[in-house]
Amino acid sequence: MSDSRATPYIIPFFITHAGCPHQCVFCNQHKISGACHPVTPDQIRQDITAVLLRPRNGNRRVQVAFYGGSFTGLGVAEQRRLLEAVQPFLSAGVVQEIRLSTRPDCLDRQRVQLLLDYGVTMVELGVQSLDGEVLYASGRGHGEQDVVEAFGLLQEYGMQTGGQLMVGLPGDTPQKSIQTCRKLIGMRPDCVRIYPTLVMEQTPLYGLYQAGAYQPWSLDKTVVVVARMKRLLDEAHIQVIRMGLQAGESLQDNMAAGPYHPAFGELVLSRLFFKAVRRAIFAAREDRDNPVQLIISTRDHSLFMGMQKENFQRLQRGGWLVNVDLCRSESQPRFQVAVKLI
Ligand code: SF4
Repeated sequence: MSDSRATPYIIPFFITHAGCPHQCVFCNQHKISGACHPVTPDQIRQDITAVLLRPRNGNRRVQVAFYGGSFTGLGVAEQRRLLEAVQPFLSAGVVQEIRLSTRPDCLDRQRVQLLLDYGVTMVELGVQSLDGEVLYASGRGHGEQDVVEAFGLLQEYGMQTGGQLMVGLPGDTPQKSIQTCRKLIGMRPDCVRIYPTLVMEQTPLYGLYQAGAYQPWSLDKTVVVVARMKRLLDEAHIQVIRMGLQAGESLQDNMAAGPYHPAFGELVLSRLFFKAVRRAIFAAREDRDNPVQLIISTRDHSLFMGMQKENFQRLQRGGWLVNVDLCRSESQPRFQVAVKLI
């Protein structure tokens, strides 16, 4: 029996630019995915079979994912061809779910019904921003209302939903990104991904960057903003399934500028942990003369220390660790900080 609570085991297929009638200023799907050939039903069958034959740990659900491009922007026949290739595996019970990503303005009742007929369980929408000016400057070709309607439609049909956001797009500000996050929370997606805007070669954004008309955000600024968004999403109990782009040769070779870091998500978590430690110590004692015990999970030690011990040094410099006894405990829940007066 598969464990429905565990993270699914994903078999990804990148459909690159296929199905997408647009050119967002930042997008070069071929560069990001590294895939240049269209996905074929044969390839889908072969890849799924090969993955299923490999030994896997645990009892996780198996999910086939169509990423990149705009799946529901493909012709109906092509959507059927690709989804058809997964059906024997679904019927045999060796694949449990299908997820895909698409644009908010590429959905209507017929298209959602088609996805349901083929066993699609989750649709991720490329939202990127919910600020009209940012959407326009980024060449998205859709507005906020398209996003509202797409989430409403998918949820009406009982589909799980995800939202993909980007920070640092042309015209974006920290306030606009936070406001976008708040609006997205109001649409109640099941999960969210957050990506920093990177300047990829051979994109319109690259031209703007070269002309001096676009300046990417710094890594620090991006981490601060994404950390605030992650906290809002955590408070709303919405799962953040990715922060930052996946490291890969193709990405690094074609990136011209931007706040890229191979462990971007870790930087965000580490910043959140630093703030949580400070808040917990501040709340627990009146002044630094009161000794306290700070309890963290053993597995959070690297988050507590921060990259190159940055958190630890900042806490020390600020006097936050005076009279603090650090206790690493196996029983302390991850990402939670406890402080006791001693
Ligand atoms: S909608 Fe998606 S695939 Fe199409 S250009 Fe924009 S980012 Fe790229």
